[in-house]
Amino acid sequence: MKDFGYAAPKNVGEAISLLTELGGHGKVIAGGQSMLVIMKQNMLAPEFLVDIKGISELDYIKYDKKKGLNIGALTTHRTIERSPVIKETYPVLSEMEDNLAVVQTRNWGTIGGNLCHGDPAGDPTVVFIVLNARLKIRGTAGEREIDIEDFYKDYLEVDLNPGELLVEIQVPPPPPHTGSAHNKLMVMKGDMGIVGAAATITVNPADGTCTGARIALSNVASTPWRSRAAENVLIGKVITGELLAEAGRAASAELEPPADVHGSSAYRKEMAELFVRRTAETALKRAQAQG
Ligand SMILES: Cc1cc2nc3c(=O)[nH]c(=O)nc-3n(C[C@H](O)[C@H](O)[C@H](O)COP(=O)(O)OP(=O)(O)OC[C@H]3O[C@@H](n4cnc5c(N)ncnc54)[C@H](O)[C@@H]3O)c2cc1C
Repeated sequence: MKDFGYAAPKNVGEAISLLTELGGHGKVIAGGQSMLVIMKQNMLAPEFLVDIKGISELDYIKYDKKKGLNIGALTTHRTIERSPVIKETYPVLSEMEDNLAVVQTRNWGTIGGNLCHGDPAGDPTVVFIVLNARLKIRGTAGEREIDIEDFYKDYLEVDLNPGELLVEIQVPPPPPHTGSAHNKLMVMKGDMGIVGAAATITVNPADGTCTGARIALSNVASTPWRSRAAENVLIGKVITGELLAEAGRAASAELEPPADVHGSSAYRKEMAELFVRRTAETALKRAQAQG
């Protein structure tokens, strides 16, 4: 690893000033669970690291029944996994975290670091996409909010300017009669997913029609992938086993996934079909169980 300068600012304002001063020469480090890996692999050699891990003002979970969930960017995976309010109100987030890495990584890695790393194989992004989340980003020019879907530009590339920090993830309350699920193909529990899928399904309890569906996949493209083709198969209909299978096929048909040591492109397409079908089915059952 190349030598680098280091500072640990005490608050968000100091961190943003320092990053702005450094321009493109500074890089944020939070838990270092992704940064140190790519630095050791010489994929990145920052001249200066700005360590934000100790900034406690970005470590929080807030919930309001009307406004939804707000998670500070420096909240660890483990805190999200174990949060009673998240278990009760957004159980798909706890479920996803339980399958993310090992407990040591979850104890130190932050949710903001995961999202900003921009890995298309990351688990939280697809779950936040189907939960319709927005990101709050702060820089010297002030704050901006964007839809999480628009945050991902390319492989390991996100919409952050030098001097900007992701500060918060905002998740609205789900509509009534909505079920959510996340599932991924792993060699062992906690591995990065070979393919992952997340889904939310909303049903009208009066006639069983699907009134809303959001489906997203991980590790099938250079960025996380929202499958509107799969969603369109389900919306407006009473979902049957055949429709779930058709949604899986629709998702798979629009993909040209990368190949790697864990699977060929054709294998990933097949797994995308299977995981969309299964995950949407679980989400549907959870929506129906709400009465
Ligand atoms: C063994 C292992 C297993 C893993 N398994 C999984 C898995 O199964 N699923 C999964 O999704 N992930 C997995 N990961 C990835 C892990 O979740 C992420 O590495 C971790 O969450 C990143 O958070 P961090 O705080 O360590 O970020 P860092 O590594 O410190 O930073 C990551 C990137 O985000 C930037 N950054 C960090 N915070 C901010 C911020 N607030 N604003 C702007 N930029 C910021 C940094 O500059 C850097 O580019 C695994 C990692 C390891 C080491």
